[in-house]
Amino acid sequence: MSYVNEVIDRVIQENPNEPEFHQAVKEVLLSLEPVVAQNEAQFRRDALLERLVNPERQLKFRVSWIDDNGQVHVNTGYRVQFNSAIGPYKGGLRLHPSVNLGIIKFLGFEQIFKNSLTGLPIGGGKGGSDFDPKGKSDREIMAFCQSFMTELFRHIGADTDVPAGDIGTGAREIGFMFGQYKRLRNQFEGVLTGKGLNFGGSLARTEATGYGLLYILDEALKCRGLSLTGKTIAVSGAGNVAIYAIEKAHQLGAKVVTCSDSTGWIYDEAGIDVALLKEIKEVKRARLTAYADARPSAVYHEGRGVWSTKCDIALPCATQNELHLADAEQLVKNGVIAVAEGANMPSTEDATNYLLEQKILFLPAKAANAGGVATSALEMSQNSERLHWTFEKVDKKLQEIMVNLYHNIDDAAKKYGFEGNYVVGANIAGFEKVAQAMNAQGIV
Ligand code: NDP
Repeated sequence: MSYVNEVIDRVIQENPNEPEFHQAVKEVLLSLEPVVAQNEAQFRRDALLERLVNPERQLKFRVSWIDDNGQVHVNTGYRVQFNSAIGPYKGGLRLHPSVNLGIIKFLGFEQIFKNSLTGLPIGGGKGGSDFDPKGKSDREIMAFCQSFMTELFRHIGADTDVPAGDIGTGAREIGFMFGQYKRLRNQFEGVLTGKGLNFGGSLARTEATGYGLLYILDEALKCRGLSLTGKTIAVSGAGNVAIYAIEKAHQLGAKVVTCSDSTGWIYDEAGIDVALLKEIKEVKRARLTAYADARPSAVYHEGRGVWSTKCDIALPCATQNELHLADAEQLVKNGVIAVAEGANMPSTEDATNYLLEQKILFLPAKAANAGGVATSALEMSQNSERLHWTFEKVDKKLQEIMVNLYHNIDDAAKKYGFEGNYVVGANIAGFEKVAQAMNAQGIV
């Protein structure tokens, strides 16, 4: 059995009931086979892959908080500090009832390679809780965030571990967590990113993941003599990533006709009205039915179905495993030319393989959505120098990072004989830097 397969088997045995983590490890390690084959004796001796798939530290803690009726609730908090070979741990905090250790580990593992791909000095981590922010009052959100930070604060710091937002954790939650950290440590430091603009946040961070997705897609299309102008795009999700992906797609001349949330989806033949979507999701925090009520050109559909829409480009921006094999087949049948992942691991393994077989331009999450964490690293730089950069400066750096990132993964794919396969290209390019740093730092 190959070294890679041995390690995959051990991960499955030693981490039962963590299917998302198994899926992520399998996808990454299998695509590293060509690199591992060239260095197998050394990697085996140093147990490099075993060290790579075992987090440096994983924390699980109780989060007790009191609701508006005086009822006490108990949630579970997590922080997985996966790999610090190239910089302080960096990765978001997810607040969603589906959160468990396996999901946080899959996200943290992916984050190692994504962060490496940005070219910036950040290691990989992820955290969160099974707390559901939906339907909670501002005071209840604050109570949860303060309790969560009352444990987390002792494990993080500007040079140790710098968490950020993710599903369910936006500017409001980051603000509450930052306030509690500052109170407990008596220190104002860049310990979280995605902060408010008047206390250390970076301009363009809110837009960065969605914008970055379109910048890398635009570059990949340009390299094929194609352009976004006039293209019809299907987007899933209606959160931070989806909203700013739609906004940038429109700025670049495409038309986005769908968006979705966890209950249903919208088809808007006139193109999604971003201002209306922002009002509904960011201000009113309402369901997408409110979008259809306000817009005559839009139709609301209950449940899944966004990928049945005829489109040139698909951008899954909601959550993991939301684009299945049947969806991929439908997209190809409808003439899709590109799929770029805004969410983390939104395509199932068989959907990804099918799209690659069909030679569809496929930009995997760890490359395509790296603009968010890259801009978080730019926020860390600004905090360190106690300066604020303009929107234009941050946005320009983001564009440069995404364009370079595309060429890095393209070169890595070509170098190992997998031209056009960016799953392989992204995993190899991300891995090489981390492996070299781990090697240089000895057995730790
Ligand atoms: P948000 O919470 O802002 O939005 C998530 C969106 O996806 C919402 O529309 C939500 O619907 C929908 N959604 C969430 N869970 C499910 C589910 N189980 N089934 C169907 N729909 C669901 O999160 P973000 O936009 O920040 O994150 C989206 C994805 O992008 C995640 O995979 C995240 O890890 C990834 N990502 C985010 C980055 C960022 O900078 N924000 C950076 C890199 C990756 P509803 O409104 O009903 O909850």
